Amino acid sequence: MSRFLDQKLHELESYIPGEQPKGRRIVKLNTNENPFPPSPSVIDAITAEEVGKLRLYPDPAADDLSQSIASFYGLEKDQILTGNGSDEILALCFHGFCPDGVAYSDLTYGFYPVYAKMFGVKERVVPLREDFTLAVEDYMELGETAMIVNPNAPTGLAVTKKEIESLVKSNRDRLVIVDEAYVDFGGESSIPLVKEYDNILVIQTFSKSRQLAGMRLAFAAGDAQLIADLAKMKFSFNPYSVNRLALIAGKAAIEDTEYFEKTTREIVETREWMKKELERLGCIVLPSKTNFLFVRPPFAAGTVYKRLKDHDVLVRYFPGERTGKWLRISVGTREDGRKMLDALEMIWKEESHA
Ligand code: PMP
Repeated sequence: MSRFLDQKLHELESYIPGEQPKGRRIVKLNTNENPFPPSPSVIDAITAEEVGKLRLYPDPAADDLSQSIASFYGLEKDQILTGNGSDEILALCFHGFCPDGVAYSDLTYGFYPVYAKMFGVKERVVPLREDFTLAVEDYMELGETAMIVNPNAPTGLAVTKKEIESLVKSNRDRLVIVDEAYVDFGGESSIPLVKEYDNILVIQTFSKSRQLAGMRLAFAAGDAQLIADLAKMKFSFNPYSVNRLALIAGKAAIEDTEYFEKTTREIVETREWMKKELERLGCIVLPSKTNFLFVRPPFAAGTVYKRLKDHDVLVRYFPGERTGKWLRISVGTREDGRKMLDALEMIWKEESHA
């Protein structure tokens, strides 16, 4: 630490992203990336001419892209704000929409506690129920901004739009933010609620179901005034955070519904196959509505994580009281899944002889 860092950041522990190994071929099931390339129309849209235009700044209002997103969800353009990944939009939300603190579950996106500390927001941790389900009733009486990942990470479990609506209705003066990073893999989106209620903001990303994690693109959907507030914050910080290529790639991706549906369907099918196979190997697997599985192996999860790594299979392990017996395994291609399962079978044999 240098002597120049502000005292208020001395205790800050930053978010630790999943490993991005370089070099040798590895089965990478640790960061919930999509195993398919972006839509062919995305690849076509990034022409030499567009690359040539990189000398120009992008449209800070992202008009064309916002219109395409709005049309896809049956909203108006002024109900959409785009950002450099959900991470940027979430940061703006912590900064500006949590004056009375923020409430989120004990098992949630690991970035939330980091943002809370970074922006000095008081946090209230609402434990998930014993079976890892999130009960919206647990948030009803709270005065803080509710931040709900739906479907949740790392559990993969979902709540319904109706449950979110009951929370939104329970206190019209409290904002409910729903992080739907994984919703396209079987969850129920709360985006339609933004037409009726001005105290819900839904955040979705192009990183998972639209294969653009490397592009950094996401959006928030909400009442026009909420979106204007977000835009005010964004324009007071980094108006050009969505670059020119992200604008055109995002538009091509959201307009290619056929590719989107085909690839999400395939991931869901692979997920269900992987779940059955893992259960056959003696694992407990939560019913997932995402592109990952939360898996309790029959041997120590930390050891299995390390042993999988020795077999060139990377998954995510979160040590800790509630998560320490579990692994989070992303759904890749069937071939990736097969390699992971074969490695587990070998590890089981070794472990049972140990
Ligand atoms: N929310 C959740 C629940 C996530 O798991 C992630 C990424 N892993 C994000 C938001 C951030 O996604 P991005 O910044 O790529 O849009």
